[in-house]
Amino acid sequence: MARVQEEVGEALVGAAEATRAVSTSLPPRRRSPRYLRVNVVLGKVILALLVLLAWKGFELVVIQTGSYIALVQQRPLLARVYQAQFIVWYLWLFYCFFSVYLVPRPTPSKPPPDVVSRSVIFECTPDGEPVRCFEDDCAGAWKSLRTRHCRDCGVCQPGFDHHCPFMDACVSANTFKAFACFLFTTLPLMGFAEIPLMPIQLQAVREVVRVTWSTEAMREDWWSRWWSWAGGPVWRYGAALLLGYRRYHQRDNASSSLAIDALSSSPSSPYASLATPHLTPLLLVVSGGFVWWVAVAMTTTIINNARRGLSTVQVERIRRWKLLSREARSTSLSPIPAPAYDPRIRLWVPLPREEYPDGGAVVHVDPTEPLFDLGARQNWRLLMGEHVWQWFVPWIKTQIDDFQLNPEVVRKLQDEARKRST
Ligand SMILES: [Zn+2]
Ligand SMILES: [Zn+2]
Repeated sequence: MARVQEEVGEALVGAAEATRAVSTSLPPRRRSPRYLRVNVVLGKVILALLVLLAWKGFELVVIQTGSYIALVQQRPLLARVYQAQFIVWYLWLFYCFFSVYLVPRPTPSKPPPDVVSRSVIFECTPDGEPVRCFEDDCAGAWKSLRTRHCRDCGVCQPGFDHHCPFMDACVSANTFKAFACFLFTTLPLMGFAEIPLMPIQLQAVREVVRVTWSTEAMREDWWSRWWSWAGGPVWRYGAALLLGYRRYHQRDNASSSLAIDALSSSPSSPYASLATPHLTPLLLVVSGGFVWWVAVAMTTTIINNARRGLSTVQVERIRRWKLLSREARSTSLSPIPAPAYDPRIRLWVPLPREEYPDGGAVVHVDPTEPLFDLGARQNWRLLMGEHVWQWFVPWIKTQIDDFQLNPEVVRKLQDEARKRST
């Protein structure tokens, strides 16, 4: 099995190198302008929607829900505490967001002397030279082991993890901590916003269903029509609810059983959109819940990856590598199509010059090798900070280092380099 994997690997690398040799002799490919890239457009649209959610959500939570707790539930002190804690989370969230969004673009760098003299392990070309980037404006900038060129940002990002369309920015060594803090803040912020709002909105939905769904008009216009089933049950009941909200406000006798006092039904009420069923708070609660779930999923993923010493880009490499190996095995090794993307990393591995005149060799490392794994505790500390309080502040930066590698994998690489040098 291991032998087969090795053969597959060798053959794949050969094919990939042939492709690369051809591609390096060609002038750099012209790319479509950045503003036409799907991720860039999506980034702007999603960001605009999030800003809208933040603005409308703040008004709903601080003004409307705060007033509701104070005046309707008659708990003014709780209302003040609720509003104050929300404002604190909110300001902190903005601070974390801008710590990612406004971070200066990394400047292209030159290889350090250790890399130039080839006395350390670094990612290299087939001839053992430091890798350089010629895409966008990089103009031959040095690419360290964990640096990747982000086409959405148009620049090489050291410690690249992924490009985040929600923030329209790169999550890399410079921004990882702030990004993690942003996620950590989203959880309590959204949680506290949703807790009092969910029961109020549930009550509002029940009220709309009770008043509008079984009316004659609704039966005629919706329930009896074939198109009410056109998009399945979600469409039938989702659209019926939207229709119900419209009908609810069009009734002749527009009083609401949710109205608690005389102030409730007046449009000047500080909690007007909570006293009667309205679509805006319902949509805000639903989209806020969605964002909360995305944040939970992302937080779980980054905690798991961080402890294993993996970035999103490495997880993707492992997935591609397994897929490629499986494909190559199923085609019985011949002929192997040249892969457009080789998920292996090519490394220069130095050896003592006294014994090996070349001073080292070029070795390929499988993405499945835990190259950056220094143990769960150390991985986490380097990424998030030494002390617990440091995990939650964006200004203590990630300390990962491209030259700090798993000593066991390094030993394996050196054995491989010795084999290749003799
Ligand atoms: Zn670049
Ligand atoms: Zn980017």
